[in-house]
Amino acid sequence: MHRFFLPADWMARSTVVITGKLAHQMRNVLRLGAGDHITALDNSGWEYDIELQKVDSGKVEGRVINKSLSVAEPGTKITLYQALLKGSNFEFVLQKCTEIGVAGFVPVICERCVAGEPDSKRLGRWRSIITEAAEQSRRGKLPFLHSPVGFIEACKAASGIALLPWEGEKVRGIGDFLRSHTKPENDTVFSIFVGPEGGFSPHEVEFAQSCGIVPVSLGHRILRAETAGLVAAAVTLYEFGELGPR
Ligand code: SAM
Repeated sequence: MHRFFLPADWMARSTVVITGKLAHQMRNVLRLGAGDHITALDNSGWEYDIELQKVDSGKVEGRVINKSLSVAEPGTKITLYQALLKGSNFEFVLQKCTEIGVAGFVPVICERCVAGEPDSKRLGRWRSIITEAAEQSRRGKLPFLHSPVGFIEACKAASGIALLPWEGEKVRGIGDFLRSHTKPENDTVFSIFVGPEGGFSPHEVEFAQSCGIVPVSLGHRILRAETAGLVAAAVTLYEFGELGPR
């Protein structure tokens, strides 16, 4: 069944009205009609079974048949502080890390970043990639996308258990680090920092450590930046029991 994240104000208690591009897509691309069902999400963690009542090119109306809490949201909340990357590599990070369950993204401007800051058009494209990946992977909530921040500011903002995968770390592996944190009852919050193609500068690693952000190794192989974020997030979710039925 098709899933769509909708603006909360499109949903009333028992009805939903969809307009614009999405209405057009539903009728003319997906060929949906009256009587078909879709799943609507308002980013609250609830999802709604909607029976379509009227389907026109510019407007679709439906009735809420049932609502349920999404089961697909991890209790472990990871914010990925990912350095800006060239080309479509940052988009790869957004798509794949949304699929596996990352809670949000903060694009970080590091000393060795080659990629420039995204303009509003690019940020809009990034938001669409997150939405499509969240709908495809049946997420119950949309990961947030923060506006780009400098590395220093990012380190100061980091909350929860903060780690920085760094190829220069030769002692502490990510597995040992994660296992040294027992899973508390409530949801666990992580901040994971991944550098740009040229890596973190020594000064950045030093400053991160001064903020209590722990460098960890992802192994002897040097991963591409877009690979490292996905691996670090996946290992963290696995270690905290999020890659299997909860
Ligand atoms: N300095 C690296 C080199 O020697 O080619 C380039 C940085 S790597 C392409 C990009 C980012 O991925 C790094 O800043 C780090 O965050 C992460 N990374 C890659 N391999 C890693 C590893 N084996 N252990 C920990 N982090 C790694």
